[in-house]
Amino acid sequence: MKPGSKHNFKPESLMMSHGYKPELSEGAVKCPIFQTSTFVFKTAEEGKAHFEVAYGIREANEGEEMGLIYSRLNNPDLEILEDRLCLWDGAEACAVFESGMSAITTVLLEFLKPGDLLLYSKPVYGGTDHFINTFLPKIGVHVLGFKPDMNQEEIDALIKNSGWGDHLALIYVETPANPTNSIIDIEMCVSLAQKYTKGDDRVLVAVDNTYMGPLWQHPLKHGADIVMYSATKYIGGHSDVIAGAVLSSAALMGRIKALRTFLGNMASPNTGWLLMRSLETLKIRMEQQAFNANKVAVFLKNHPKVEKVYYLGLIQEDSKNYEIYKRQYLSSGAMVSFDVKGGEKEAFRFLNNLKLMKLAVSLGSTESLAEHPATMTHAGIDPVEKQDMGITDKLVRLSIGVEYYEDIIWDINQALDEI
Ligand SMILES: *Cc1c(COP(=O)(O)O)cnc(C)c1O
Repeated sequence: MKPGSKHNFKPESLMMSHGYKPELSEGAVKCPIFQTSTFVFKTAEEGKAHFEVAYGIREANEGEEMGLIYSRLNNPDLEILEDRLCLWDGAEACAVFESGMSAITTVLLEFLKPGDLLLYSKPVYGGTDHFINTFLPKIGVHVLGFKPDMNQEEIDALIKNSGWGDHLALIYVETPANPTNSIIDIEMCVSLAQKYTKGDDRVLVAVDNTYMGPLWQHPLKHGADIVMYSATKYIGGHSDVIAGAVLSSAALMGRIKALRTFLGNMASPNTGWLLMRSLETLKIRMEQQAFNANKVAVFLKNHPKVEKVYYLGLIQEDSKNYEIYKRQYLSSGAMVSFDVKGGEKEAFRFLNNLKLMKLAVSLGSTESLAEHPATMTHAGIDPVEKQDMGITDKLVRLSIGVEYYEDIIWDINQALDEI
């Protein structure tokens, strides 16, 4: 049952079956957990052939798939999961990792070398920020951040003024940015990448799509080369697994998978199996979460103890961002941040009085979560930068879950009353 063979099935229709053959697993309707480190070859000749393809010694013959060798190279739970993830983003290939951070760092290590320039959007996830600003400079990579409110000319000038424009190798984008929901035009980044490309050595654009993917933003369709996920968030969706994924063209994924093989940071078979289970309900979970988030955002907007709400569905229709939002997003998502009137004391009072929502970092799960970015997820960022990015003491971040929306709103309302 391949998409497009007879009927063009939507990804959600294929999440229970795509890539899995029951006849190879005693007829089991669900893909079992292939908890094995190594795979038996039928003959020595077959083993040789598998290695030739795996190590790129020769091209695969027509219809020849990479045979199963050893679970650091490939495993059915990972391969089937990767095939299924490709459907949402319209990607040629995918690799899953033991965490979102290992997906991101593997991409950065594969496509950057000493002397290169990395351009990245600010803010990015705290762990990513640390790797970019603490680790990459140690191996001689130059890094340069740009803010979401800068236009193409301003970013172009920033690159030129850095003096490293000729060495630009990768543009790394996180949109919407965590925790402020500020958005970046992916097509603008692609246009910048083209401008700085010389000859065959293309400047690549990589997008962390954790906040909106894989349902509501498809970076590859806007010209990005690589899309990355913390699969811990919406893809996993139940706060019970840490994992990551990267999707791209077959050619670029060949390089990323080779580095994964040698770093050994692939996901485990059990993680692969858990994520396949999660993918079956991905769409209904995310749609319910977005529906609930919209109700919550509207409630917060009208609440006297709330100063400002950061939510894609509230972007002003006459702003430049509205055009980007309409072009790049299929939903306003399920992440809502807001400023309480006051500061840390008022924000903490709210957080400490929640009864249904959990006070925890992470996002995208079935249960609603609340946290204080300035002292939690973004605690490590330079105080001046933090202020500049709008991550102030009064900011609270909510990840909206699948509970009944009136119960979530009841909880928020009673906790705001305690301020
Ligand atoms: C959580 C997160 C990461 C890191 O992923 P882990 O699975 O925790 O390693 C990266 N980017 C974003 C946007 C995230 O929210």
